[in-house]
Amino acid sequence: MRIVRYQEADGGEVSYGVLGADGLVVPLEGDPYGERRPASGRFARPLDEVRLLAPVEPSKVVAVGRNFAAHAAELGNQVPERPLIFLKPSSSVIGPGEEIVFPGYSDELHHEAELAAVIGVRCRDLRPEDVPGVLLGYTCANDVTARDLQKPDGQWWRAKGSDTFCPLGPWVETELDPAALRVTATVNGDVRQEGSTAQMVRPVNELIAHISAAMTLLPGDVILTGTPAGVSRMHPGDTVTVAVEGVGELTNVVVRADI
Ligand code: ZN
Repeated sequence: MRIVRYQEADGGEVSYGVLGADGLVVPLEGDPYGERRPASGRFARPLDEVRLLAPVEPSKVVAVGRNFAAHAAELGNQVPERPLIFLKPSSSVIGPGEEIVFPGYSDELHHEAELAAVIGVRCRDLRPEDVPGVLLGYTCANDVTARDLQKPDGQWWRAKGSDTFCPLGPWVETELDPAALRVTATVNGDVRQEGSTAQMVRPVNELIAHISAAMTLLPGDVILTGTPAGVSRMHPGDTVTVAVEGVGELTNVVVRADI
């Protein structure tokens, strides 16, 4: 099942919905974390007549660095002994089609194509085998990174957490085995990143169990699972697409910040 969050028209009502194989979006009553009842008295709409939003509204986005050996190596880093976990604020989240803003305080913005897991129920202290039971599903993410600020800033608050640095979407796929999925990033049609989730140093279930030992995860929280090799620069005007096999494609355009 594909779960979307959408707006019917500019300034119109925002709803969660289910996207059917017929291309129709059926609105849900409330959020998708409970029984998922169709909203009474409201009509299904064709996908191309609604505006998709980020498919979830996370309280936090938890991410992992250097979870693909070839990506760690391309930036001159070792694979860390313990998972390298960091946070991206909820304010960095944008949806499909929204603009990634290249901030004036950076000269080097990179895409990072990633599989993103979405938490479905409040949970903590998970064992790896518990994780599939707490997930709503998976979506695509671009872990946008101001590479030139990561080392000088020490903390990654701006490098990873600036506004618009967490595109998510286009929907949450609830039926997906994350073990061996192709993950790509293309910029203006050129394939820059291409890898498989099978190459992860620590697989999804292990990562989420590790994170849940320290923090309670809430419905809608998002876990970014690391990026394969091939990260590269994005420039204003570029069109960037992250694709995850079995999920779909997330496309955003980069714009220069108004100064
Ligand atoms: Zn990343």
